[in-house]
Amino acid sequence: MVRLLRFTVLLSMRFTSFIKPNIVRLPKVALLLSLPVFCSIPVRAIDAEGNFVVVIDPGHGGKDPGAVNGRNLEKTINLNVALKMGSLIENNCKNVKVIYTRKTDVFVELERRGEIANKAGADLFISIHTNSAKKKSAKGAETFLLGVEENRTSANLSVAMEENKAILYESDYETRYEGYDPNSSESLIIFEFMQNEYQKESLKFADMVQKQLISHARRPDRGVHQAGFLVLWKAAMPSILVELGFISNTEECRYMTSQKGVDELGSSLYRAFVKYLEEYCKQMSKSVNLSALTNESGSVAGGNKPVFKVQFMISSQPLQSNDNRTKDLPDVDYYKENNQYKYVCGKTSDYESILKLQTEVRKRYKDAFIVAFLDDKKIGVKEALDLIADK
Ligand SMILES: [Zn+2]
Repeated sequence: MVRLLRFTVLLSMRFTSFIKPNIVRLPKVALLLSLPVFCSIPVRAIDAEGNFVVVIDPGHGGKDPGAVNGRNLEKTINLNVALKMGSLIENNCKNVKVIYTRKTDVFVELERRGEIANKAGADLFISIHTNSAKKKSAKGAETFLLGVEENRTSANLSVAMEENKAILYESDYETRYEGYDPNSSESLIIFEFMQNEYQKESLKFADMVQKQLISHARRPDRGVHQAGFLVLWKAAMPSILVELGFISNTEECRYMTSQKGVDELGSSLYRAFVKYLEEYCKQMSKSVNLSALTNESGSVAGGNKPVFKVQFMISSQPLQSNDNRTKDLPDVDYYKENNQYKYVCGKTSDYESILKLQTEVRKRYKDAFIVAFLDDKKIGVKEALDLIADK
């Protein structure tokens, strides 16, 4: 029994490393001020600045060709379309910074791609791929976000598995991807345990991309789906993966390798990006004025205040009160969600203080992140910030 318990806790600790950091972004007001083409809205704060950063990730590259049809290689299609999308953004959108995970035919590890985006503080991540199937008649575009669908189909699983096989080109993939086995669909279950703060935004962008591919590039519609793509796993921002079409389909292969195809596909992705950016600007105009928040949060009066805590661990069993893993952490507590005990520490309505605590906790639990509660009910961090700002 004891051994079983220990196994359960170990297992749940492993899953904590799949929790994505919850990053609350400062309003990018410089973007709002200087992007009249997208945003003609009042701006409430003027003390933060920055560009909107989009990371474009052309799948595969170098020794990893991706899917192949004769002399046509997926990696080349992906790169051509990525460069087209990026150049359209660079030429038409002010205050948007485009970062590529690769701009040439080089190999980049899957995990590294997400790291590039995280390091750049990216606001959006798009991974561009080309599909392949044994059935030569299979055709059409589809867009994915990370997750596991309730009505998962073997087709979605196999797309993710095929793309994840890119790690076989990496020498140390067994240790890097926490035991993910690229040859086992069972491995994809790890994605069920992830908390994804960016699901809603990812879905929004995926829908926009899919719509443009259908209307602008006239691709057959295979829909928007969720599946377990390793490349999206570590990206701490809204992120999607698009499969432009089937390289295994003669007609689609010809289209995607033609200049017309590259132009139309790149332009479809660009149009979707602009739509997303417009929405983003609208939302930002409503976002919390952080400078006011930090000055006044200590003196918010009346009503129940939201409380911030730092979540650092998930366990399927309650931990002993003297458990070493909670030692020296302030105000350790847990809340139950999906039959799991989610351990939190700290307790404050001051966002600056909880950010500091998060930094401390991350020295021990690198994926710890901030959660918010109102009257012991979990609410979104942004919602909590808005509530405090409205007081
Ligand atoms: Zn691919």
